[in-house]
Amino acid sequence: MAATMMDGRALAERIRGEVAVEVAELGHVGLATILVGDDPASDVYITSKHRVATEAGIDARDVRLPAETSEDDVLALVHELNEDDAVDGILVQLPLPAHMDETRVTYAVAPQKDVDGFHPVNAGNLYLGTPLHVPATPAGCMELLDAYDVDPRGAAAVVVGRSEIVGRPVAMLLLQAHATVTICHSRTADLAAETLRADILVAAVGVPGIVTPEMVKPGATVLDVGLTRTDEGIRGDVDRSVADVARRLTPMPGGTGPMTIAMLLRSAVKAARYRRGLLAYPTQ
Ligand code: NAP
Repeated sequence: MAATMMDGRALAERIRGEVAVEVAELGHVGLATILVGDDPASDVYITSKHRVATEAGIDARDVRLPAETSEDDVLALVHELNEDDAVDGILVQLPLPAHMDETRVTYAVAPQKDVDGFHPVNAGNLYLGTPLHVPATPAGCMELLDAYDVDPRGAAAVVVGRSEIVGRPVAMLLLQAHATVTICHSRTADLAAETLRADILVAAVGVPGIVTPEMVKPGATVLDVGLTRTDEGIRGDVDRSVADVARRLTPMPGGTGPMTIAMLLRSAVKAARYRRGLLAYPTQ
């Protein structure tokens, strides 16, 4: 039986529409992005973030700095944006040029404006089960589960990958949703033994086709986050024939990817709500 394809494109479009309504209600939502250098992939990401943000009515400020900009100048800009009342959310596009300390720059963003959810205060709140801003890709995974009526409560969830951007936060969100969570990584002794137990399997590795049908429990829901550009086009971590075993599967492309930008916009709205006193901020 072929799996149901979880249509991230359609869901993302719906969310962008909801965001546009919320932005209109709020009157103004400001999002500033900082891109340092001329990395072509980052340019593509930032350009599309701005396109969809602007379409949703968000006042998007696209700050671009030359690669040789000093870390102090970037930090000064972040502090300026932290103080700028017209800016609700700030995003620093990674990777930064090698001469900069990414951690120092990321941590300089005010937690309330940290729409990427990378600041330790936001990571800590997620860990404590009181999240405000969470990384967009994991948030998109949870939205996909919800949209396809997959209830994580009591389910065995296996996450392959433990990065701060995807693996760890999606594991925390699944735990918060009462799944029983296992996190796998490059030192996991027997990956297939772990993944075979998964009712919900999230693959966030970056190795094309690492998840094969033999590693998937029949009837599982499989979210493919891995994204690798190859000569044959974009490949996910999940082998396409997993569709013969899984009950639900995200396509690649068109699954988790489109959700990422939609969730970023939602995060910007959340930041605006918080800053207007319409949303309580958890512990900090
Ligand atoms: P990352 O920081 O490189 O992390 C990869 C993780 O995979 C690490 O935890 C690593 O383990 C683990 N891993 C590597 N080889 C493994 C193996 N053979 N078996 C089991 N685990 C293994 O990458 P990331 O930033 O999390 O991104 C992961 C993938 O998602 C990439 O392809 C990226 O392009 C993609 N991505 C997609 C979206 C989207 O919107 N769809 C968004 C963000 C990222 P160790 O920790 O032990 O090294």
